[in-house]
Amino acid sequence: MITRTIHNALGAVCPALLVLACGCVYASAPNDAVINNTSHFDWLTAAPFAPTFAVLDTESSLGPYASSTKTITLKDLVNMHGHPCDGLVTAACGLSAGLKILYPDGVIDRTDTGCITNNSLCFGDIAAYLTGGRIRFGTQKIDPGLGNAFIVYRFSTREAVKVSLKPGVFPEEVLRLERAIRAGDFTIDDMRRCQELQWDYARNLMQRPASESFDVERMPSFDWKPDVYEHQGKRGDIINKNILRETTQGATP
Ligand SMILES: [Zn+2]
Repeated sequence: MITRTIHNALGAVCPALLVLACGCVYASAPNDAVINNTSHFDWLTAAPFAPTFAVLDTESSLGPYASSTKTITLKDLVNMHGHPCDGLVTAACGLSAGLKILYPDGVIDRTDTGCITNNSLCFGDIAAYLTGGRIRFGTQKIDPGLGNAFIVYRFSTREAVKVSLKPGVFPEEVLRLERAIRAGDFTIDDMRRCQELQWDYARNLMQRPASESFDVERMPSFDWKPDVYEHQGKRGDIINKNILRETTQGATP
């Protein structure tokens, strides 16, 4: 058991200290070559339905809109998020399906999009990166009860779309192992088994169109209300984002 390993490393420890140590067990577990070898994860971008994202931003801190888009791949998401995981792939595939409804031309405007996820590290990171939503600007929200679902919102059109992983898609065995690991009741072999099964699930998710794994629904009566945040501010880069378009339009006969 992992608790036994930690106990041995610490020598004689009191029960209270052991409980505290268990809370840090994931962070203190040794890395191994699988995690460090990024080429091991080439399947992330090689899968037949691995999503990519075209995004539009502003070109500097006070605007205006950039003249071209950027392309984001799953490897970009890993670099931002810190690790490849089932949550990253679930969020990317689900958000891809939802954002296609908000942006039929395929270009996600990251100055105009909000997102809502549960409070998982993985879902929240990926949603913020792909939409440009941030809690400190009131454009990213957390709903702890949302589960394996995502809501994306386009501020200029007030359109909202909810994307939910279909029941039965996420493997029961992974769920069981994740619960055991979070509870501190596991071995290193359990952790490795869980990782492999999570990555198997992620690979499989990208073997078919997202529409087969997710339910997508518009939310016509949805009303965006920012979460309360003490230091909420205003994004400087979007206040004049349209200035070149307006100038161009004004000059056109
Ligand atoms: Zn993750």
